[in-house]
Amino acid sequence: CSWGRVTDDDRLHCTILCESPLSALPEPNQSSSVSLQLFINNEWQDAISKRSFPTINPATGEVICQVAEADKADVDKAVKAAREAFRFGSPWRRMDASDRGLLLSRLADAIERDTAYLAVTLLSLVSWYLLNMECSEYCAGWADKWEGKTIPIDGDFFCYTRHEPIGVCGQIIPWNFPLLMQAWKLGPALATGNTVVMKVAEQTPLTALYVASLIKEVGFPPGVVNILPGMGPSAGSAIASHMDVDKVAFTGSTEVGHLIQQASGSSNLKKVTLELGGKSPNIIMSDANMAEAVEQSHFALFFNQGQCCCAGSRTYVQDTIYDEFMERSVERAKSRVVGDPFNMKTEQGPQVDEEQFKKILGYISSGKREGAKLMCGGGVAADRGYFIQPTIFGDVQDGMTIAREEIFGPVMQILKFKTLEEVVERANDTKYGLAAAVFTKDIDKAHYISSGIRAGTVWINCYNVFGAQAPFGGYKYSGNGRELGEYGLDNYTEVKTVTIKVPQKNS
Ligand code: NAD
Ligand code: MN
Repeated sequence: CSWGRVTDDDRLHCTILCESPLSALPEPNQSSSVSLQLFINNEWQDAISKRSFPTINPATGEVICQVAEADKADVDKAVKAAREAFRFGSPWRRMDASDRGLLLSRLADAIERDTAYLAVTLLSLVSWYLLNMECSEYCAGWADKWEGKTIPIDGDFFCYTRHEPIGVCGQIIPWNFPLLMQAWKLGPALATGNTVVMKVAEQTPLTALYVASLIKEVGFPPGVVNILPGMGPSAGSAIASHMDVDKVAFTGSTEVGHLIQQASGSSNLKKVTLELGGKSPNIIMSDANMAEAVEQSHFALFFNQGQCCCAGSRTYVQDTIYDEFMERSVERAKSRVVGDPFNMKTEQGPQVDEEQFKKILGYISSGKREGAKLMCGGGVAADRGYFIQPTIFGDVQDGMTIAREEIFGPVMQILKFKTLEEVVERANDTKYGLAAAVFTKDIDKAHYISSGIRAGTVWINCYNVFGAQAPFGGYKYSGNGRELGEYGLDNYTEVKTVTIKVPQKNS
């Protein structure tokens, strides 16, 4: 991880990815300084403890670099900076909403300019997926359009609402989509005028720190955004239990979601939004287009090495097409190219770290032990790094551990069903409710399923389709609140009711 120039080789890989001509690729931004320290009050700082922790390349298991490690003392410092930036009358509070939008828009431009650079950092560390700042652009547009209402209350009064920022927002994000998760969190918070203390996942601090340099470069005032690499139980929990943090937004495991909610309850009752895990059903009806259903179901599960909160990890297939679907899915999984993330032929890179790698292998063992039929894969895919073979289990029963728990890896569960009513009931028999999909040509079946399923997102004849304009979030244990779209702004807004006496005669 040198923060130096992207090599020609890297640029070539990115060229293919970005589908833009080599000559059009920008130089990485050289004007602002980037470091591997904490980003507090628009300054790069060591941790107060002077501690740092390694960032590891999951393709090799080797240490790439050391990054400063924030803990409670640094969180306190960042919260102070964010509080000061939020003070009534501060530059950020006095800034026109349209100018806030402009800053977000400039941030999106800077990220686009440095796409190649970010892609190399992201690709080399985690995944294939090159993510852009569509979300920032979208939120930028909202900044001066987030309007209150005038309300006709009884009596001689003029009543209106103001949409105000909540204040200092703690944001704790995971490692599976480092750049996108950062954008989903920052966009709505900043468009609505909040200040932010963000703890990035310990597995993936690098892209977030680069974006921090861009935040400074485009001109956000000091303290508006503070970015802290660090560990969950120290830095993360310090944010969740902080008495001067007004809201916390978390994406990650349901287990930690419980802790975040509890920490709020036992501190200052800060507002909490959670985007947690899932065990999303993907239902294939017998009338579906077979080729499409196979390919999309493969994508639904294996995309991003299976490390998606909304992964289609329970594939329900109607009995009459089960055998053919299975055969074609196994064929597809066997052809999936696993290997070096920088090889353009590769479809699947390593899992993010050793902990996830071992956890996934544990689930594969449990599947075998509990009697599911291993159709392909099931093992380690390389002699170094955290690569796992694309794996499919057949004859999966609803009660098996692999059908109930989030695996977060390239392990597909295929289950058989007979009737529509039966599959909706079984699909809903989970503590989660993040996403679902159905493949069918019959619009009645599609509607029956999309209204019957208890989940925040339902895809019909497609999967993993996201738009910054459309809300995303979970029912049940999958969380609360929504991100993206107009709904996403609600979670960063206090509504103030202002009532004014209107004199009825001139006195
Ligand atoms: P995690 O929930 O522990 O980590 C997510 C974020 O929370 C990280 O930034 C982490 O540092 C922080 N965190 C951890 N403990 C914390 C605490 N006590 N207080 C405050 N913050 C804390 O997830 P993980 O351990 O990286 O992965 C475990 C499982 O979680 C995965 O196997 C997967 O099933 C699930 N997961 C889901 C998502 C998602 O997008 N919903 C993302 C990552 C992981
Ligand atoms: Mn954890």
